[in-house]
Amino acid sequence: MDCLEKEVFTQRAEPASGNLYVIGTPIGNLADLSPRAKLILKEVSIIACEDTRHSGQLLKKLSIQNSLLSFHKHNTKSRIPKLLKDLKSGLSIGLISDAGLPGISDPGEELIKAAKETGCNVICIPGPCAAITALVSSGLPSNRFCFEGFLPIKNKDRKKALSAIALEKRTTVLYEAPHKLIKLLEELSEYCGNSRPIEVARELTKRYEEHVGSTVGEVLKYFQKTKPRGEFTIILGGYSSNSNENSSIDIAELKEKMLSLIKDGSTVSFAAKEISSKSGLSKRFLYSLMNKNQTSNSQEENKEAK
Ligand code: SAM
Repeated sequence: MDCLEKEVFTQRAEPASGNLYVIGTPIGNLADLSPRAKLILKEVSIIACEDTRHSGQLLKKLSIQNSLLSFHKHNTKSRIPKLLKDLKSGLSIGLISDAGLPGISDPGEELIKAAKETGCNVICIPGPCAAITALVSSGLPSNRFCFEGFLPIKNKDRKKALSAIALEKRTTVLYEAPHKLIKLLEELSEYCGNSRPIEVARELTKRYEEHVGSTVGEVLKYFQKTKPRGEFTIILGGYSSNSNENSSIDIAELKEKMLSLIKDGSTVSFAAKEISSKSGLSKRFLYSLMNKNQTSNSQEENKEAK
């Protein structure tokens, strides 16, 4: 037994009866699984996992035999009461996802909430998480950040999220599938401008790990030439980090600036260009801040004044 394994056995008796263990599993490199995670996977009464075949492979590689129960977004409602009953009856449950930490863009959150509400102990066995791994290796500010994960698919919700990201001062962490990466980068270019700092992390912890930066424009060009393959986490610098403007600027203030220029006779397009050159925000994003009514009212006022 090496010193890590000894530590696992001497710290405390695990797994304890009636506890839910949220277990981080590797995001690519099997060696990132901790000895403690391995022990819990071996000893819990049952393992709830996203895909029994996928997790079966993991257990096989670790030479662990244990019962797996599928727990994914399509059976959450029916599985939670069963799992809570098991916990109450004294079983210990391990919760894992296909990779990384359950609950981070993966099933788990609802089970964890329900377990807490029914008074069960929830213990996290920390492990790899693509968001945090990408963030700390990006070189972008990590003292304050926000996690967006996958952006909404619905057009209206997506635009709302992108507008908020455009003015977000903290570093933003995003997940995206390879076949949608270019579309996301185009949207970031449209909403945040080409000069916004960014670092795209590909295949973290794996053999072909790659980090591509350093501005939205450069990264977009790179992936237009190099087909995106593998898994991607995107770390986007905050708004103030590439702007010389007052960093307390917000949407209301931007709208006010746009309206003031329009009232003074500028077209919406010219106003957007002016503010874009000062703020580093994209023209299209600024244009999108002006809803049609507001713009036409100001332009009408403008005509009347003339
Ligand atoms: N719960 C997981 C975690 O803690 O990292 C994330 C699950 S989410 C469904 C999967 C997304 O995470 C992928 O689409 C990709 O954006 C990101 N991801 C997972 N593994 C990655 C890796 N090795 N390199 C870069 N990004 C990764």
